[in-house]
Amino acid sequence: MPLYSRRTLLSTGAAAGGLLVAASQTYAGTYDNVRDASQTPGPHDPREEALNPDELNPPPTDHGNLGTLKYSFSEAHNRHTDAGWAREVTVRNFPISKEMAGVDMRLPKGAVRELHWHKPAEWAFMTYGNARITGIDAQARKFVNDVKAGDLWFFPSGIPHSIQGLGPDGCEFVLVFNDGNFSEDSTFLISDWMRHTPPEVLAKNFGVPASAFANIPKKDLWIFNAPLPGSLADDLAQSSQPMVPDSYSFPLMDQPPIKTKSGTVRIADKNNFKASNVMSAALVEVQPGGLRELHWHPTSDEWQYYIEGTARMTLFGSEGRANTVDFAASDVGYVPRAMGHYIENTGNDVLRFLEVFHVGEYADVSLTSWMANSPNELVAAHLNIDERIVRNLPRTKTPVVPA
Ligand code: MN
Ligand code: MN
Repeated sequence: MPLYSRRTLLSTGAAAGGLLVAASQTYAGTYDNVRDASQTPGPHDPREEALNPDELNPPPTDHGNLGTLKYSFSEAHNRHTDAGWAREVTVRNFPISKEMAGVDMRLPKGAVRELHWHKPAEWAFMTYGNARITGIDAQARKFVNDVKAGDLWFFPSGIPHSIQGLGPDGCEFVLVFNDGNFSEDSTFLISDWMRHTPPEVLAKNFGVPASAFANIPKKDLWIFNAPLPGSLADDLAQSSQPMVPDSYSFPLMDQPPIKTKSGTVRIADKNNFKASNVMSAALVEVQPGGLRELHWHPTSDEWQYYIEGTARMTLFGSEGRANTVDFAASDVGYVPRAMGHYIENTGNDVLRFLEVFHVGEYADVSLTSWMANSPNELVAAHLNIDERIVRNLPRTKTPVVPA
């Protein structure tokens, strides 16, 4: 014998439905009050609430908890030396960022990020100023180049390199590593290794007297001041070796962007930036009111860096879960592979942000393209919408759509 007859079930369902309506009506009243942060009677921080309006009042379509989806470099611990600084966002302070970690580094004029290498690959975007970068590959081919704001570089896993701030005011840049657990503090430094190798071995290795190494720094340098370099041509001329076959730097702003009515997208991946074979990126500009369309990435997590403007994103995580988060300059956002999302410009100024991926080839799937290129009746039947709406959707991709 069933515990409930069908009739009981139906009436229980109706009662529950009625309760839900009543509850949501009650909630709507509370919601309206909470919209004004001054009506939050308990302890609260109006500065944080102003930065996170969609946390204070999530859209009613939000549901569940997808964890912390944002961490700002502006709240990250800063490591200073006499010469420069760096701060990092890794799984330690941003647990969702499992596949990628980020560093924001400032090198004033003359300051050098010490010659070093590390296990993950290093992808970089220059946000300010000018720098000279150097490296060599495993065939001892050389690389030296000057980079400016908007340029990228990429050093493959284990490839040694350095960065030096040039005039007039040095540089700032963001680094992205294809390992969320990586720390900028755990790189292999040339001074550290030399200091921890017996001097007689150094003498034998380089074929010079051990006394040549008497003044190796007692402490690693990491970021230190050095004389400004001469011309790029002079630096290149100091080695007769050929250059690396695929440049480790890339002038992103020289690429013709994908242009839409309300934005641009510049993609750098192994198809145009050949050296960058295990990481890729898109620099996105969205005009006020515009939207980076609903999409997902089939092959990679997405590490976001907000350069200017304000935005909101809703991350869709299946099982009805959706969380909305707000972004401003210096914020890092993160989207696990295959999770649906959009990014909307919520301000009056242009929004610029980076999408960085731990795969060599950029890929996204557009919700609009999916619907437009599937049988119209099939899509209409799923969503209970007019088939003509589906038929008129653009068949080709529009990564940024207007207000
Ligand atoms: Mn590095
Ligand atoms: Mn995306």
